[in-house]
Amino acid sequence: MIELKNVIKKYPNGIVALKGIDLKIEQGEFAYIVGPSGSGKSTLIKTLYREERVTSGIIKVNEYDLMRMTHKQVPYLRRELGIVFQDFRLLPRLTAYENVAYAMEVIEKRPEEIKSRVMEVLEMVGLKDKIRRYPNELSGGEQQRVAIARAITNKPSILIADEPTGNLDPDTSNEIMDIIERINQQNTTVIMATHNQSIVNQYVHRVLTIQQGRLVSDQEEGGYRYED
Ligand code: ATP
Ligand code: MG
Repeated sequence: MIELKNVIKKYPNGIVALKGIDLKIEQGEFAYIVGPSGSGKSTLIKTLYREERVTSGIIKVNEYDLMRMTHKQVPYLRRELGIVFQDFRLLPRLTAYENVAYAMEVIEKRPEEIKSRVMEVLEMVGLKDKIRRYPNELSGGEQQRVAIARAITNKPSILIADEPTGNLDPDTSNEIMDIIERINQQNTTVIMATHNQSIVNQYVHRVLTIQQGRLVSDQEEGGYRYED
């Protein structure tokens, strides 16, 4: 579960990107984060995997209290999260297979386990026949499939995605969404920032709208949810 209470994030330049966010996301939910450019979507996402520390408030992700955790605990928090970006961020000198395997090697999984799991996730995203390709030999959609495979290979309880379809055409975006949907159906929480209204309309889930650092609406699959 994810819980934020009165979360404020002020950057060193004085910009207050989050102005008191209250939010609860249960295990297995799918929540979009939408809102204008500069409203704080990426900032909110970065606070969840502790790329950015919040200035004040309470932020909890599963068993971790992010305000109180030490540097040493951050890698353990991140093991529970899979993270996907708009620009894929694959390692260019590693093949598709190696990019995914690397995520397991760094946490010292056994070689036999790595081999079978990497093949399993690459098959799940439909890339079994391209495992030896380097990122520059793959299309954008294929690179994003590798990035998603890498994100889920260690079985995170939460998948965090910041505009995962931002660089992709509509058909490819739908293919990526179909994969993310399947991951969510396996009880993985999904939190996804997006500008893509047609995706939000087509794949119906909870919609959190941020404007100027404030949560201005929380729409539950077609209805509104009001917090008191
Ligand atoms: P977009 O839709 O364009 O991706 P966003 O909703 O993700 O926008 P953020 O990137 O969270 O917006 O930015 C929120 C505010 O914080 C903006 O005013 C931005 O300029 C500012 N900001 C973001 N990152 C930093 C940073 N590292 N240092 C200082 N200010 C930042
Ligand atoms: Mg952003």
